[in-house]
Amino acid sequence: MIATDAMAASPSPKIRTQLVADRETLMRIFIRPESDASRQTLVKYMDQILFGLHEFLTRHVGVTQEISLKELSKRFTDTHIGQHPERKLADVITDLIENIAPHAVNVASPYFVGHMTSALPFFMVHLKTIVAALNQNVIKLETSKVVSIIEKQVLAKIHRVIFQKDDAFYLKYVQNPHTTLGCFVEDGTLANVSALWVARNALLAPHNNFRGVEAEGLAVAYRAYDIDRLVVLVSRLGHYSLKKACGVLGIGNQNLIPIDVDTNNRMDIHHLKKVVAALHTNTPQTRILAVVGIAGTTETGSVDPLGAIADICHEHGVHFHVDAAWGGPVLMSEKYRHLLSGIERADSVTIDGHKQFYMPMTCGMVYFNNPDLPDAVEYHAGYVIRQGSVDLGRKSLSGSREASSLILDSTLKIMGTRGYGLLIEHGIDTAHEFADEIRKRPLFELTTPPELNILTYRIHPPAAKERMAGPHDAATWNKRLNAITRSVQQLQREAGKSFVSRTTLRGNNAADMERVVFRCVIMNPMTTISILREILDEQENIYHQLDIPLESSTL
Ligand SMILES: *Cc1c(COP(=O)(O)O)cnc(C)c1O
Repeated sequence: MIATDAMAASPSPKIRTQLVADRETLMRIFIRPESDASRQTLVKYMDQILFGLHEFLTRHVGVTQEISLKELSKRFTDTHIGQHPERKLADVITDLIENIAPHAVNVASPYFVGHMTSALPFFMVHLKTIVAALNQNVIKLETSKVVSIIEKQVLAKIHRVIFQKDDAFYLKYVQNPHTTLGCFVEDGTLANVSALWVARNALLAPHNNFRGVEAEGLAVAYRAYDIDRLVVLVSRLGHYSLKKACGVLGIGNQNLIPIDVDTNNRMDIHHLKKVVAALHTNTPQTRILAVVGIAGTTETGSVDPLGAIADICHEHGVHFHVDAAWGGPVLMSEKYRHLLSGIERADSVTIDGHKQFYMPMTCGMVYFNNPDLPDAVEYHAGYVIRQGSVDLGRKSLSGSREASSLILDSTLKIMGTRGYGLLIEHGIDTAHEFADEIRKRPLFELTTPPELNILTYRIHPPAAKERMAGPHDAATWNKRLNAITRSVQQLQREAGKSFVSRTTLRGNNAADMERVVFRCVIMNPMTTISILREILDEQENIYHQLDIPLESSTL
């Protein structure tokens, strides 16, 4: 039973009555807060959240000093659920805001440039509230009606941005109950799983007496097709969700084969061709299930040469999936959409709504070039999703789910492509400015220049640059640089003013030096070049305060 003040049994303020859960109070919690006091508490906080979100977050979220996870977790060890309500609604809300929120992370801060999670346009909270209040379940028409229809429309709108088919195409498919231009799923991970699921079932489709991989499983499917292995090819910068996908789909995550990247962190097409050719000659019973091109790698924001990958896929009849979880919305910018050219030739595309569409957590989407392809994953159930129904749950990995489409559709109306274009352009342009600033400062080395709005750099003092030129001690110096960048990143995070994340860049060969770098993701429109300069200043200060500055240390 949840605790709410509607559960308070006695109206008398004098006697501190125990809170009880009974039938009468249970009915009330479905309707309204009982007392004026609790209503006041709700209004007080909701008013701030609804109309002063930015200020509210600055004042309440992530404002405490760093406290270790171990310390924090000691406070949360009681595993009993009270039989009767423990607290009134007002108290619970106050606790959430005054005691929990300060230990959460203020991802909306313009100084928080470490991850793909950032500030939201304030109206997202309003839209999310409306979606929660309507509580539609888009799995089927009987629990969503017009919302399912709007979902098909917004899927077609984004499909059009990606694939740019003609009017006749969209008129034919926008509300076609038998076809699927795309699906909303939980997140980018499940979007990637969905795309490979569809590709797998389309490849190992029913033929002769074989009823298809979905029905009979991989062992039978491999025999039916006379193969012994499926593989998926992606650059070595592929997101680990693809490994999960290969695991879940029974392909085996060892069979996700990493392709080398070039000096710009894009898939090396020569290496891709070599691997494809080698697979054909050396292992004729291996089939390539899909090649995945990345439009915005998670670590460096690089975009694979999508057109060249499309050529190879078409030549070999292989499914071409583009993981544009991060970079998809770049298509909304007239200035930068060319960076993703070739995406329109993909068979399937992943895009995350909660990344560069600036939607609240979480919203994944997968799109299909051919709206008949998802037939390969069609399901029916007697009580819902009946044969011949037009329910959206028929060809989707998700079961019950919220109407994220209403949030996206409303936002597209509020922003227009130009609005999103401006956000995207701010991120990319600021990243380029930031890269120039890093190049200017002798203490730093830009390790991956931005292609989109992500870049990496590290601390690399002039003295070390000279020393590393000598072949003998490059590895030792590199280790030292790694330790320094790691320390500075940690100290900056602990100081609590700004946050830049950290990752390790690895070369194509096992023998290549691993470089620990700062990773900076610029998506908050309030993150300006002067804020980024402050972040660099702070890193310089931290470095100079380290106990053993690099210059004075000897090997
Ligand atoms: C974020 C991301 C994913 C995974 O998305 P989630 O929504 O976190 O599951 C997949 N691929 C790329 C390239 C990403 O950036």
